[in-house]
Amino acid sequence: MRKVNDATVTLGKENKSRGRSFWRFFKRFVLYSLLFVIIVVTGSIIYYYSTLYTAGEKQEGYLALTNATVLVDEELEAHEKSTVLIQDGIIIDVGRDDEVDIPASATVMDLNGHTLMPGLIDLHVHLGMKEMELGQELGPFGIIGLVSDFIRFTPDKRKSLLEHGITTVRSVGDEHEWIMEFRQLIQDGELEGPRLFTSGSLFTTLEGHPIATIGTDPDSEVVLFPDTPKEARDNVQEMVSGDEGVDLIKVVQERGLSEYPLEPIATDVLQAIVTEANIHNIPVTGHWGALKDLEELIEAGVDGLEHLGRGVVLNGWPEELLETIIEGDMLLTPTLTVETINAEPEYQQLLLERAEEFHLADGQFVVGTDAGMPGVFFGPSMYQELELLVKSGLSPQEALQAATSRAADALQSDEIGVIEPGRAADLIVIDGHPLQQIEDVQNVSKVFRDGRLVVEH
Ligand SMILES: [Zn+2]
Repeated sequence: MRKVNDATVTLGKENKSRGRSFWRFFKRFVLYSLLFVIIVVTGSIIYYYSTLYTAGEKQEGYLALTNATVLVDEELEAHEKSTVLIQDGIIIDVGRDDEVDIPASATVMDLNGHTLMPGLIDLHVHLGMKEMELGQELGPFGIIGLVSDFIRFTPDKRKSLLEHGITTVRSVGDEHEWIMEFRQLIQDGELEGPRLFTSGSLFTTLEGHPIATIGTDPDSEVVLFPDTPKEARDNVQEMVSGDEGVDLIKVVQERGLSEYPLEPIATDVLQAIVTEANIHNIPVTGHWGALKDLEELIEAGVDGLEHLGRGVVLNGWPEELLETIIEGDMLLTPTLTVETINAEPEYQQLLLERAEEFHLADGQFVVGTDAGMPGVFFGPSMYQELELLVKSGLSPQEALQAATSRAADALQSDEIGVIEPGRAADLIVIDGHPLQQIEDVQNVSKVFRDGRLVVEH
């Protein structure tokens, strides 16, 4: 009995001390967990704010960029030994060095030996897409990166675009609410980055691109797919109304290949979208692939065309269609970079020939890269696109116009794209002579956004 009692006493003691050590372990566990959470949260906050890439101070007072070869007017005519005078972010005078009166209070930057030109405009980007090599899988880290990019409004892309001399982009299909907020933050001067124009959601069908092709979630705000003309008009009205209104409408008219047919937008729905946008004076640009897609877009009366579709690449330009495009002043964003990626050499050759035919017929190109698509990167793809345009027979000057003044026309903007008084000082300084050789455009040494020096190499 005693023995048992003794044993019970010992056991009780052991239980007590075991209880105490459990309690100690539990307290430590809670403490360390708490510490871990604090470190992660603090780390995330520091990471968030230190990588947000916020905008610097506004340019105030006078800034004179002197002694440069300035590419002036819509034609980008080279004027040597010239000055651009800026006040509060706006160009107020342009002329030969001895013609421009520089106020005594001005900050003067001597750009001797450099070319000064308007910032480049990429008219076809998808900022919400993850940059990936061709054939790369997204993976778990990719998803974390995607989310982290999303909540910080893609600082790396904003930075890379500016560093490559791109001071304006046009988003043609991104998460609606996100991209509208993005545009606002740029406009308000909170985030640094290129000026942003956007279509918000794009119009397509449930069995169309990009839902049925790259798997865009039909429940996401990237896509709208009205079933009836009435629904289409309502969608457009909603998108263009108020300060939050979109800058353009993007439609996807794509019936796919015979092996993989896709559903294009019904012609009465397409017509309703374009008509309603016209009423609100909002331009419409249309993605196309097959000849029939192109015909339907032209019939509906769109202002711009995205891509150089395989219908034309393989079959050539039907003469009447080509005439209608040119007489109707429709602007074509051929996105040659993305069209040539992964394509057979024969197809690439044909593509460039079709581009040349369009150019020789007096068709008007504008520049867009489709950055965000696999293998097409924000910034460098602009140089690829310009070089491909030159390969298609455009002079470097014509290719650069397509990425500046004419791109500004596509945006219906007289605020950017040309070096002339009254326009915003979105300017780039190039080491070299891009009008003589297009590759020189890659040597960006300074970038100004609204007169603010944002890149200096
Ligand atoms: Zn696209």
